[in-house]
Amino acid sequence: MKAMVLSQPRTPLVWTELPDREPGPGEVRVKVLACGVCRTDLHVFDGDLPDSKSPIIPGHEVVGRIDAMGAGVSGLSLGERVGVPWLGHTCGVCPYCRAQRENLCDAPLFTGYTRDGGFATAVIADARFAFPLGETGSDVPLAPLLCAGLIGWRSLKIAGEAQRLGLYGFGAAGHIVAQVAKWQGREVYAFTRPGDRDKQAFARSLGVTWAGGSDETPPQPLDAAIIYATVGDLVPTALRAVRKGGRVVCAGIHMSDIPSFPYSLLWEERALVSVANLTRQDGIDFLSQVPKMGIEVKTTTYPLQRANEALADLRAGRFDGAAVLIP
Ligand SMILES: [Zn+2]
Ligand SMILES: [Zn+2]
Repeated sequence: MKAMVLSQPRTPLVWTELPDREPGPGEVRVKVLACGVCRTDLHVFDGDLPDSKSPIIPGHEVVGRIDAMGAGVSGLSLGERVGVPWLGHTCGVCPYCRAQRENLCDAPLFTGYTRDGGFATAVIADARFAFPLGETGSDVPLAPLLCAGLIGWRSLKIAGEAQRLGLYGFGAAGHIVAQVAKWQGREVYAFTRPGDRDKQAFARSLGVTWAGGSDETPPQPLDAAIIYATVGDLVPTALRAVRKGGRVVCAGIHMSDIPSFPYSLLWEERALVSVANLTRQDGIDFLSQVPKMGIEVKTTTYPLQRANEALADLRAGRFDGAAVLIP
């Protein structure tokens, strides 16, 4: 197999030939067809996250086909198309796992962070955490759904019944969640970097109710806001934009420090929460409804060998939607 390997943080990924790996008991080997590039891959690259496997093959939005199965795998078959998401393994016995909160497991493994991921021609996955994807839809637009879509779905669930929903950051997750929220009958208010007219036009093309800069006040107070951008300054900004009893959800795995803010922004039962990872149930709930939602995922594709360029373009905001690597 071949892979783009990160040997040390902040050094370019290196195209590397590796021995083929065999799936162990309970595992499957997935021949990668497409792998999305997520903001979290940049955090892995930058060394922002603690205790990363090193060297590591990043990538946790994997679409592929099973080409080998270890002992004891049930419910999946050779040749089946599956998705390999961020949540790669949980312990099953800790208090969080037992309380159906496996997203908070005490001893988890995460694809492309603490176990090797999909910036490769093949990936080994714990079979219980691979989602059957069926044959509807092509591989490339499915890939970003495995994280941007899934974490987006979970953050939307945690935002609650909000009719007027603000989205801060309109990248891969934002543009998918905007469409899901619209499908659910909500009004979406999209916030981009101040002055980013192109991104605001992109948001309007997806049918949002309003689009503007994060320095602008929305025309109506929001019922809830989700922050996808990694900028801590947006927390007080979003609290300011939500009504009494409103909710602000931080959906990123990493964020710059949140500046101090007056208690009055939180007063009147506003709530500030974060979303971590996903549960398998989130994946099943979301992926089973995707065919009904009519989401158009905007993608820019790169050959796998050009993963460094994809990461650089993501960092610089050079494309709308999501980047996807093709082996
Ligand atoms: Zn656990
Ligand atoms: Zn991700």
